[in-house]
Amino acid sequence: MFVCGAAVAQSAPQLPEQDRALSREIFKQLIEVNSEDSDGSVTAAAVVARNQLLKAGFAAEDLVLAGPNERKQDLVARYRGAADSKLKPILIIGHIDVVEARRADWTVDPFVFLEKDGYFYGRGTQDMKGADATVIESFIRLKREGWVPKRDIVLALTADEEGGKSNGVDWLLKNRPELMQAEFVLNPDSGGVELRGGKATAMGVEATEKTYADFRLTATNRGGHSSLPRPDNAIYELMHALDKLEATPFPVELNDVTRAELAEEAKITTPERAAAIRGVLAVPPDAKAVAEFVKVPTDNALVRTTCVATLLSAGHAPNALPAMATANVNCRILPGHSQEQVRQQLIALFADPKLTVEYVADDGTVSADAPNRQSLPPPPPLPAVFVPLREVTAAMWPEIPVIPTMEAGASDSIYTMAAGLPSYGVSGIGVDFDDVRAHGRDERLRVESFYKGVEFYYLYLKALGM
Ligand SMILES: [Zn+2]
Repeated sequence: MFVCGAAVAQSAPQLPEQDRALSREIFKQLIEVNSEDSDGSVTAAAVVARNQLLKAGFAAEDLVLAGPNERKQDLVARYRGAADSKLKPILIIGHIDVVEARRADWTVDPFVFLEKDGYFYGRGTQDMKGADATVIESFIRLKREGWVPKRDIVLALTADEEGGKSNGVDWLLKNRPELMQAEFVLNPDSGGVELRGGKATAMGVEATEKTYADFRLTATNRGGHSSLPRPDNAIYELMHALDKLEATPFPVELNDVTRAELAEEAKITTPERAAAIRGVLAVPPDAKAVAEFVKVPTDNALVRTTCVATLLSAGHAPNALPAMATANVNCRILPGHSQEQVRQQLIALFADPKLTVEYVADDGTVSADAPNRQSLPPPPPLPAVFVPLREVTAAMWPEIPVIPTMEAGASDSIYTMAAGLPSYGVSGIGVDFDDVRAHGRDERLRVESFYKGVEFYYLYLKALGM
């Protein structure tokens, strides 16, 4: 190992007691601020982080609150590097909003930070206030040690990743671009340590992701009295289209990232699964292996664009022929394909000129065409990102590989990538692959996973900034 790798290994003790307590306190404060879009305040969460950083000695002018309105202020915190540095900053983005959580759906209060049975419970523990806390605390610990990185490290804590009209990364890039200058971006919303039964098996780095799109299918009809049914019927027409959707999955397609991801996965999985993966990776793919592989939803989502019916509404009276039937179809689109391209594929699949397929934007507006937006090709594996990542991973989890991954969901990296900033999902938090509760009820995170994640970001920032 290199000299600096050895230095990392020596400096990888358990998280000190002081930092354990502080990271837990920051995490608790973030969870107990409701930052839902409907009735919460992102600003209140940004202020929690700002106050902690102020208390730790960060200058007020390096802790900028900015955003489109009072409830959606983002925080951009700058850790100053060497004054004579010619290097562009490193930008870390983390959203501080959360998905709506209804108390009635949960067995515990989603906005009370609870430690129970080795887990922290609360809305945002997995997605992603835990990760936010790991970076905030690392900033404070490094500051306390008097550490000065080679270049500025900027942390943007932002609004409306989960929904809402004020996406903070998008807003800052458009309105405060001077704050967002960077050579590359790290986004701890994705990537991280995969756990199986609590044991670390891989360090994933999100290197590309799918694009999100909603489409509204509408069948209309002149309607009439239900005592005189006719062959033309809006509900049946819509159902025929949905039948086709169900029966016709998009083609399997691999890219550089998913190929690399599967090749690494094959090395660490069961012999049966490894055989299926080899069949999927074969050129051309082995049809039987593919059929077996895609039975698992996460595997299926990895190798194809998916579109699924998620909402349905039709008719207006029990005794009338329906004048209208609509469905929402939600698609997760592979990199290299645009939303409009998928809309055209759906139109071709339904082959029904009477059925309209419209695009529904994030803010709910409906338009005839979809944007040509698509995920950009994955960025190259920058040594400035990956060399220190491999060192720190080797020091903390000596047995596990670092694997580039494709995220089936979409994250704010789509905005930074579109702005020309290579973006990578990097986190040291481990989540059990079968205990993903992000967006779900009783969201929780292993206590020790969190503290390891704190230690990870401290070591990683130090290795990045040396
Ligand atoms: Zn998230």
